[in-house]
Amino acid sequence: MKLKLLALALTTMTLTVSAQNDRWQQRVKYQMNVDFDAIKHQYKGTQKLVYTNNSPDTLQKVFYHLYLNAFQPGSQMDVRSRTISDPDPRVKDRISKLSPSEIGYEKIISLKQNGKPLKYEVVGTILEVTLAEKILPKSQHTFDMEFEAQVPVQIRRTGRNNNEGIDYSMAQWYPKMCEYDYEGWHANPYIAREFYGVWGDFDVKLTLDASYVVAATGYLQNPEKIGHGYSKKEVKHKAGEKLTWHFIAPEVHDFMWAADRDYAHDVVKVDDNLDMHFFYQTDTLVNVWKEMEPLAVRCFKIMNAKFGRYPYKQFSVIQGGDGGMEYAMATLIVGRQNLHGLVSVTVHEAIHSWFQGVLGTNESKYGWMDEGFTTYAQNIVMSELFPSKLDAQRGSTMSYRNLVKSGLEEPLTTHADHFNTNRAYSIASYSKGAVFLNQLEYIVGKDKLESGMKRYFNEWKFKHPNPNDLKRIIEKESGLELDWYWEDFVGTAKTIDYGIKEVVSNAGKTDVVLERTGQMPMPLDVVVSYKDGSQENFYIPLEMMRGEKNEKLYTKTTLLPDWGWTYPEYAFSIERGLTDIERIVIDPSQRMADINPDNNTYPSISRELPRFKAVPVK
Ligand SMILES: [Zn+2]
Repeated sequence: MKLKLLALALTTMTLTVSAQNDRWQQRVKYQMNVDFDAIKHQYKGTQKLVYTNNSPDTLQKVFYHLYLNAFQPGSQMDVRSRTISDPDPRVKDRISKLSPSEIGYEKIISLKQNGKPLKYEVVGTILEVTLAEKILPKSQHTFDMEFEAQVPVQIRRTGRNNNEGIDYSMAQWYPKMCEYDYEGWHANPYIAREFYGVWGDFDVKLTLDASYVVAATGYLQNPEKIGHGYSKKEVKHKAGEKLTWHFIAPEVHDFMWAADRDYAHDVVKVDDNLDMHFFYQTDTLVNVWKEMEPLAVRCFKIMNAKFGRYPYKQFSVIQGGDGGMEYAMATLIVGRQNLHGLVSVTVHEAIHSWFQGVLGTNESKYGWMDEGFTTYAQNIVMSELFPSKLDAQRGSTMSYRNLVKSGLEEPLTTHADHFNTNRAYSIASYSKGAVFLNQLEYIVGKDKLESGMKRYFNEWKFKHPNPNDLKRIIEKESGLELDWYWEDFVGTAKTIDYGIKEVVSNAGKTDVVLERTGQMPMPLDVVVSYKDGSQENFYIPLEMMRGEKNEKLYTKTTLLPDWGWTYPEYAFSIERGLTDIERIVIDPSQRMADINPDNNTYPSISRELPRFKAVPVK
């Protein structure tokens, strides 16, 4: 009987999981042929796009991104940068000053659907297309396009001739179908940041002068003809000769490439299933890049073990010369830095292969799920690579606290392009997003978060997970109800502030009164250190969690009754006398982002605590 019940429970669970994870998504298959003119910085391309509508909806229109059109005076990106109070110093008013030969553009020469010419309109960075034939559910249509484009002088991410002297950083360079998902079309104008794309396969042929070394998303199909570090034997090319590079990239949602005449190209094995390629300028950088390479390899090993196996056979770290940005199977990073800086940006961008590259969250809507989760994992990897440095997770918490104090904070649900300030976007997405996971680890326990994140990766890879999808995974993994955490910490700018209000001696015992002054409730670890060197954690679950974590972080844990969130105070008793007590601390692990930690300690201290070390569990 028990077995039968268990079997029934398992079946129900499997059905729930698969029903949720089988959420439909569209599919693209691109074939592009591009002829590149490195004198004029222009290119002509053809694009055959096979589009599969897996939705239950009939589509009357489709939309493409034309990102390069953002790099024109008067574009929305230009005006946004000139009117926001804290513009990105790399952009500022630079777009407004571009001359016609320096701007970027993508021009559509022709567009057909299943051979029939289409009507379309270019509206800034979006191509609006009226279909000749409706796209019925579960049907496949072919779009044939001819386009011409000009590479802008590099302003951000994409472009030519940047500060570090890289010839071409070719991100967001082709007309790209916008994503249509269960929430509808996402034809966002390109303002500044964050992307979202349709899963599919790319087959790209790039023809350009043979003197360039090309780095790209995807596997090179003709290495013996190309050479340039892709084949074992050296291949000689004639001056003025043009080469066609043929790449394929399966199961990705974007395709990026870069080209430079002075790229060094190193290939380093992570293991039998993964090669890392490094492209950087052959000058003073050689030493620092060579030092960085084995650390980048270690990053992949740590990530594979902790967050799930990177599913491609290749990853390329490419000097792009401007900040750092993640792309499918590759990253473009700034190359001239000291070792710590270079490793830090490489690790961050490489980790985006998990949070964005494989878990293709809509970054525009949920930037924190890719920037924040990447920062959380980066903090873990960096503390393994550089153990002597300050705990980076704590740095994220401090930066979040400073944002709260500034009064500029906006909820994590804000669209990435719509934050009032760049500062509020950055700290919300990177720092508060990292705090979100670190604090979730505090709520459900370290083991459950780790196994939950692996399960999240394995169940949602090559899909578009949203915040609720992660919530359900962590709920199933921990057995706790977590609505309240997502509602308050993601949906609002409510903050956490607990304090120790009173500690008094009472007939040989000690009475403690805690208070909640912040609006957001949390479960509490209240750790008492006794003068005899022992330690006891008084754990107070939040009633709404409908359960408690099981974390063996402290020598002894005493489970106290739930705290219902509306009560501003909570009292409990310690079985030992006040004179036995050395110190009482709320969450000494400092994973809870209490915005005012000063009142978290008895006897009170007005400075922040040094990193707490738990007495080893015996
Ligand atoms: Zn990032």
